[in-house]
Parts: sequence; structure tokens; C-alpha cells
Amino acid sequence: MEDLKTRISKIIEKFDDRYGTDHRCFLHYKEPYQLLFATIMSAQCTDNRVNEVTKDLFVKYPDIKSFAEADLKEFENDIRSTGFYHNKAKNIIACAKMLVERFDGEVPSDIDDLVSLPGVGRKTANVIRGNIYNEPSIVVDTHVMRISRKLGVTKKEDPVSIEFDLMKKLPKDHWILWNIDLITLGRTICKAPVPHCEECFLSDICPSAFKKNTKKK
Ligand code: SF4
Repeated sequence: MEDLKTRISKIIEKFDDRYGTDHRCFLHYKEPYQLLFATIMSAQCTDNRVNEVTKDLFVKYPDIKSFAEADLKEFENDIRSTGFYHNKAKNIIACAKMLVERFDGEVPSDIDDLVSLPGVGRKTANVIRGNIYNEPSIVVDTHVMRISRKLGVTKKEDPVSIEFDLMKKLPKDHWILWNIDLITLGRTICKAPVPHCEECFLSDICPSAFKKNTKKK
């Protein structure tokens, strides 16, 4: 069996051929803070649903100050359909307040500053760093966790260990793309719980191809 480095290069080449190398974001936004709040809302929710909600939300709350001054109950109602709306509303309003008070209304680029914001973990921080500041970063969401393991690129299990392991193994110029590519593959071909290996352009180099699904993969 060829070594992991060679296999990763082949996987990346196939992704580039198939999906291209343009960076794209699945959440709609114009301003950095809008992407930040949309990402907080996207936890346990589809990007499409978040995009539906933010279409009106970003009109109703047209700047960061209006988010900071939002009425909690009313805001909960505004974002109710994204699920877990009590926590999300509380975090978004607190996050907006902290951005106004501590960061002059700007979304910071430093990862430590980002994770100091309410409701912002490494995943959300990396979405901002990658999409807004074009800083190489690896966003580990459910697709990246599941498919990176299926492809045998990592054996780690928790998101932070996976992120650091992938940073060691993937070329830096593909850190942002890894998330974009794996989300695209996960939504169309390598679906959970049953992947469509027969349609997959990676089946000749994927160690999990045509294997029965197991809990860990
Ligand atoms: S070959 Fe199957 S398991 Fe491997 S990435 Fe493709 S769909 Fe997923």
C-alpha cells in the first residue's frame, strides 16, 4: 500500500479536478460579522435554513449595533427555526456587544480573540479566518470528521485533535479547500449513513470504499 503522503496528494488532485480550487462559502453574507453570526446559527442546522433566516434577519438588524441592542425574546423568535435558539440568540447578542465594546465593532482575525467571543469555538473561528482573512485554517465540521477518517487521512476522533492532525498532514494551500471539498462530497456522494461508493471518484484510493458502514468511520 502506498504511503499516506502519496495517497493524500492523489486525493487532493482528484478533488481539484472534480471541484476546482475556488474558495466558496455556503453561508450567505456581505459583512464579516454577518458570517460570524450565520456560522453560530448554523450549529445543528442546515446552511440552507440559515440562509433563509438571515435573508430577513440582516435587513431587520442592518448593523452590528442593532444586533448588540436586540431584544432577547424578539431575537429568539427571529431565529427560532434554526433550532437551539435560546442559546444561539443569547450568544449572538453577547457576541455583538463584545465586538462593539472590545473590538471597535470589527471581527478580529486572531484565533485567541475569536474564541474569546461568546458562542465562538475553533470551528467558527476558523470559518472566519479562512473566509474573511484568507488565513490558512481547517474547519472541522461533521463532514470533515467523518470523511477524513473514512479516507484514512486521520484516525483521531475529536474535532480539535482532527484539526491539528490534518494541519500536519495536508498542504497549507489546501486547508481551506479541504472543508469545502468534504462538505460537497458529503452532501452528494459520501452521505451518512450510507455512502454512494459506486459513484465516488475516490473509490480507487479510499480504504473505506464499498466497506460496510461502521460507527467509527
Ligand atoms: S469511496 Fe465511499 S467511503 Fe470512500 S469517500 Fe467515496 S463514498 Fe466515501
